[in-house]
Amino acid sequence: PFAVDPLMKMTGPPAGKLYGPGEAAKVNATLLSLVRNEELDGILQAMGDLERTFNSKFNYPWTFINDVPFTEKFMRATKAKTKADVFFEIIPKDHWDIPAWINPDLMTASARLLEEQKVQYSAMKSYHQMCRWNSGMFYKHPALLKYKWYWRVEPKVHFFCDIDYDVFRYMQDNNKTYGFVINIYDSPESIASLWPATEEFIAEHPEHIHPNNAMRWLTDSENRPEHNRLANGYSTCHFWSNFEIADMDFWRSQKYEDYFNHLDRAGGFFYERWGDAPVHSIALGLMEDRDKIHWFHDIGYQHIPYFNCPNSDKCKGCEAGRFTDGTGLDQEDCRINWFKYAHMN
Ligand code: GDP
Ligand code: MN
Repeated sequence: PFAVDPLMKMTGPPAGKLYGPGEAAKVNATLLSLVRNEELDGILQAMGDLERTFNSKFNYPWTFINDVPFTEKFMRATKAKTKADVFFEIIPKDHWDIPAWINPDLMTASARLLEEQKVQYSAMKSYHQMCRWNSGMFYKHPALLKYKWYWRVEPKVHFFCDIDYDVFRYMQDNNKTYGFVINIYDSPESIASLWPATEEFIAEHPEHIHPNNAMRWLTDSENRPEHNRLANGYSTCHFWSNFEIADMDFWRSQKYEDYFNHLDRAGGFFYERWGDAPVHSIALGLMEDRDKIHWFHDIGYQHIPYFNCPNSDKCKGCEAGRFTDGTGLDQEDCRINWFKYAHMN
């Protein structure tokens, strides 16, 4: 019944009072990018797009974070790309290091098995560390404690549409927790035991489950039954977290801390390749009011190989309705599931 309707017909900005540049006090927010020095060109491109479409009007500060010091060249070039404040931060070692309870031999053996199953980045330790940091650490960084809101930006992403209202203000005024643009299926092999570990957590902490949760979305087995089966009960449909506009207070809550610690102890960030996207998505789907999750259908976006392309004359270079330029990848789109199972009002 939904077909592509909500994807194509919701064109303009969200309903309600919106604030343009200078019309309201700024919100306690930062643009946030975990990035490597080698990704300078990619982050300048992404910054350029976001400055052009949004931030040159609203001037939110940028925070760049790295596990090693940023080079002078990186700092000079990024600062030159914006008139807003720019901060450069290093990750505390104990936030990035592989925890002591992880067995390195088991990790190496597991990576080999995952590689056989074609799980991307299985043998790349830093990728596992990055996923864990994005799951349970970033919002604990001392330099971020003063902020409530963040907009996550990755190198090489594109923004296509003019955003004329303050998106953070929208989130705050409308009591939203989390904003996304793309929903896709995950590689079930990368998270085979994530749902079972989550079920243990639910049994231990039933008090953390929100009455208006999105369990039906999380456990859907109709659309890609094989994904649900291989992921042991999770559909694998998730908010693609390379884009997030969200409230860090959710990640800082006791319920999320309990969930993250449970997962961290289970070891799947290293023995499997749990991504921060399914971890964030499951946490939100279980423990947040699903009506506090917002699809920014009006933000034209690309992270290779997927797009969110609104049908709007505010957008340039994004063909309305297009999801991918790769063959056979359209089936990876699960935005529609969110509407079907979680957002029917
Ligand atoms: P993909 O989108 O899943 O292919 O992963 P990316 O390579 O884009 O990594 C996700 C984000 O984490 C990007 O913003 C990267 O710049 C960043 N990132 C990944 N690994 C590292 C790392 O080892 N160090 C730093 N500083 N950033 C990283
Ligand atoms: Mn990326």
